[in-house]
Amino acid sequence: MIKFLDLQKINATYSDELKLAASEVIDSGWFLMGEKVNKFEKNLATYIGSSNAIGVGNGLDALRLILKGYIELGYMSEGDEVIVPANTYIASILAITENKLKPVLVEPNNLTFNLDIDLIEKNITTRTKAIMIVHLYGQVCWSNSIKDLAKKYNLKIIEDNAQAFGAQYGSVKTGALGDAAGFSFYPGKNLGALGDAGAVTTNDNELAEIIRALGNYGSKKKYFNEYQGLNSRLDEMQAAFLDIKLKYIENENQQRRQLASIYLNKINNKDVVLPFSSNNAIKVENNKEHVWHLFVIRHSKRNQLQDYLTKCGIETLIHYPIPASKQLAYKEMNELNFPITNSIHNEVLSLPISPVMTDKEVAIVINAVNSFKC
Ligand SMILES: *Cc1c(COP(=O)(O)O)cnc(C)c1O
Repeated sequence: MIKFLDLQKINATYSDELKLAASEVIDSGWFLMGEKVNKFEKNLATYIGSSNAIGVGNGLDALRLILKGYIELGYMSEGDEVIVPANTYIASILAITENKLKPVLVEPNNLTFNLDIDLIEKNITTRTKAIMIVHLYGQVCWSNSIKDLAKKYNLKIIEDNAQAFGAQYGSVKTGALGDAAGFSFYPGKNLGALGDAGAVTTNDNELAEIIRALGNYGSKKKYFNEYQGLNSRLDEMQAAFLDIKLKYIENENQQRRQLASIYLNKINNKDVVLPFSSNNAIKVENNKEHVWHLFVIRHSKRNQLQDYLTKCGIETLIHYPIPASKQLAYKEMNELNFPITNSIHNEVLSLPISPVMTDKEVAIVINAVNSFKC
């Protein structure tokens, strides 16, 4: 069986370092808001090129706290609108509705799967306060026109960087492109913790200070509560693990690029639509705009292809089978029509990709995909 993502194998690579770090934390007797978190936050801010990094409980909380921070600062209030891609993972949208803001779903580009930048402007109203871009599947969603639009309409740009850790546009890393960014270190993400973890990065010092307080009961000074906050903190154990794995992320992302390049060169089933790079002037293995969190192909008979691959001993996943707007949780959006989003959800299939896949496993996946007929 070829696993979709072999977390055991990925973490085994660093197991001596991880175990040592775990013992240090256990022996220190200090588990929250300590030096491991401080150190990781500093290293993360430096890596991303952002003036602030704040560890939080998970990726959803990172996005929730950014919006809550902007509300506390008076940039937005109940009923204001946030533009967000219709085909994103539901967490991006939950962060918006949870803050009593209105998600305005916009279709993605059919080739890149990322928010169609050309459709942003016609969705802006007097109540629009932010654009949440999602670097979906690991590919940067950016162009200078997003920045121009934000300036023209006085909007905040929030990055959902859960899937694109280490990607960059030119020399700027995702997480430093917009006004604030949410990160997830869910175990299966490119930089994965050994449990739930997340972070916010921003160059806005005022926002950073408020988010730090909001994630800690709304308190800057113990037992003094300025805001109605929540409890969402990165813990010492996860911070220690993440600090170790951060050292290897460039190397891991490079291995993902190399693997993507092999898939792109060798998968030749004419019914399969291969992932499209928004920057095809640069060779896949050199293109920093993609960190290949997922390798997503399309096929009109997706379910049959998935069944076939399962029979061949290959585990695949679907990101995602049901769009947020069609979920029971969002009945008010069930009637909205997003044809591109719907076709993506019906046709996409994610092949195994990870830094620990062997050449033999890659060859098995390629042969199986190429041999599928329908
Ligand atoms: C994983 C993910 C999140 C949420 O992160 P958690 O750490 O699981 O809360 C948010 N947005 C996107 C696009 C994600 O893939």
